[in-house]
Amino acid sequence: MHCAPTNTPDIDLAALRERYRAEADKRRRPEGFAQYVEMDAELEEFLEFEPYEEFPERAPLTDEVDAIVLGGGFAGLIAAGRLRQAGVEKIRIIDRAGDFGGTWYWNRYPGIQCDVESYTYLPLLEELGYMPRNRYSFGDEIFAYCQQIGRHFGLYEHAVFATVVNAMRWHEDESRWHVTTNRGDDIRARYVVMCPGPLNRPKLPGVPGIRDFKGHSFHTTRWDFDYTGGTPDAPVLDKLAGKRVAVIGTGATAVQCVPFLAKYAEHLTVFQRTPSYIDDRGNRPTDPKWASELKPGWQLERMQNFHLGINDVYAPETVDLICDGWSELNRNIQARRKAEGWRDLTLEEFMAMREEEDYRAMERIRARVDSIVADPAKAAILKPWYRFLCKRPCFNDDYLPTFNLPHVDLVDVSEARGIEGMTETGIIAGGTEYPVDCIIYASGFETTTDMRRRYGIDVIEGRGGQSLYEHWKDGFRTLHGMSIHGFPGLFFTGYVQGGVSGSITQMYDQQGRHIAHIIGEAMARGGGTVEPTAEAEAEWVRTTRENLMLDVGFWQSCTPGYNNNEGLEVTRFTIFGEPYGPGYDAFDTLIREWREKGEFAGLEFGPAEELVR
Ligand code: NDP
Repeated sequence: MHCAPTNTPDIDLAALRERYRAEADKRRRPEGFAQYVEMDAELEEFLEFEPYEEFPERAPLTDEVDAIVLGGGFAGLIAAGRLRQAGVEKIRIIDRAGDFGGTWYWNRYPGIQCDVESYTYLPLLEELGYMPRNRYSFGDEIFAYCQQIGRHFGLYEHAVFATVVNAMRWHEDESRWHVTTNRGDDIRARYVVMCPGPLNRPKLPGVPGIRDFKGHSFHTTRWDFDYTGGTPDAPVLDKLAGKRVAVIGTGATAVQCVPFLAKYAEHLTVFQRTPSYIDDRGNRPTDPKWASELKPGWQLERMQNFHLGINDVYAPETVDLICDGWSELNRNIQARRKAEGWRDLTLEEFMAMREEEDYRAMERIRARVDSIVADPAKAAILKPWYRFLCKRPCFNDDYLPTFNLPHVDLVDVSEARGIEGMTETGIIAGGTEYPVDCIIYASGFETTTDMRRRYGIDVIEGRGGQSLYEHWKDGFRTLHGMSIHGFPGLFFTGYVQGGVSGSITQMYDQQGRHIAHIIGEAMARGGGTVEPTAEAEAEWVRTTRENLMLDVGFWQSCTPGYNNNEGLEVTRFTIFGEPYGPGYDAFDTLIREWREKGEFAGLEFGPAEELVR
């Protein structure tokens, strides 16, 4: 089916640029990420809160497995699945959560859904023979699908849940990692794969008085259904009747849960610093006829198409298979270039065209707010003044209409760069106290803080007691973003020093396959160690830094957020780590050719060992 470009209004580019700059400056805070408070000892209860089930004591484990995978979300499930296929038998996934699912385990707030099309986002669909129920899946289906992947690869057998790793040490004399946990475990393994995901550590605004509030409060990633009423499967929040509820934050999470809160609370106050981009949802059940006609290889093609739509440039013949808001810019540019006969453009001309289409698309989004929100004052506050992808775009049909309800207030806290504080009874914003019974923090996650904080593991020590955090203190140092000299058999997934795809599960599979290929080889050679040479690591660091193609101008112009280091110096250490400049596809080719050569260039394998089963 042909996917049409969108109708976008005319714009005054110079005036908009100036407005964007002013809106970004207004929100920029010199302390950057330090404005957020770590869930330290005093606020640990936010993190420790276990809303879904109780976990009994269990005897500590002191056994040995072939591979430990830290994290049971999509990254860990895919990596472990690929390890299984590479012949690794005893694989233990360890997770703080009570089941597989990662972010989909924790985030079960009302309305949770994935904004990326399910046929693209849910990995391994062809391998598992699974077809999502809807074009955009709800959280319960995704969570259940994670469990299905776990069963498919037999990953439950050795998995350990409700367990927090506190140290990992390489024991040279045994050639093993020792992984110790809060449950007294001391588990040995030859290989460890880190799969923490980018959004595993909730953050809270570091405002005065946050510890003083005497009402009820929780973070969206640990939704307290006991307090609100309802369950993840039936979010009837009837216990909120008669309650004054506040939500802090208006990102992708708030956009989904706010309509539910408005439905049940007596009064809802939404504290907004930066409005989100809100487009329509366009959800629909999966068409069985369409599904039955898909040809083998369809999912990778679709993932690749999604990735192209966000991260790349459409060639004349590219068909937009996804056809939603994520690819609007590319689609519109393609249509315009076609109308202009695909005349040659310099890079500058192309970037100017892209900028203009970006501003036009965002103007369409702002006009959309006016068409839905009746009160012009509220509509004005809800309009996003920044470029596409500065912030995560959101797609929701119920969020904007919520602000037409008489018992829903919207408090703009942009002038003061956030809420100013809390009292025992409420929130202070703009010098006014808003008394509430419940505060719900939709305040996001740590994405660029210190790795020790984000991994939540105090000690990671390789050969000679060398600390990972010390090794990375001046930036990532890896081979291909996946392994490190001095840390034998330790592997990494996620945004480190590799190719970044708009389709995160595609990236996880790329990494999972590569890591499994290497560990599979090490096992085939007798289960000895494997690690990059210091030279190979240094060479990759040099390659990455020389090729770093961070669009500093674009990110610096964005309103502050986790994508751009809170609007401060944008050099390295964004959420995307240090991406390989030539792009995801070039990186994919590079590591595929590396594998095909069969030389395992840059890696050193230790002597063979007898494999313990
Ligand atoms: P975000 O980081 O996107 O949003 C946090 C919100 O809290 C922002 O609106 C932020 O404002 C606000 N905030 C933080 N501090 C303060 C303060 N002091 N005063 C007032 N407001 C404050 O977190 P989310 O949980 O919404 O989303 C995180 C990511 O999770 C998304 O970007 C997306 O990748 C993923 N996600 C995906 C979903 C999907 O697919 N449907 C759904 C939910 C999440 P400001 O913007 O000004 O910093």
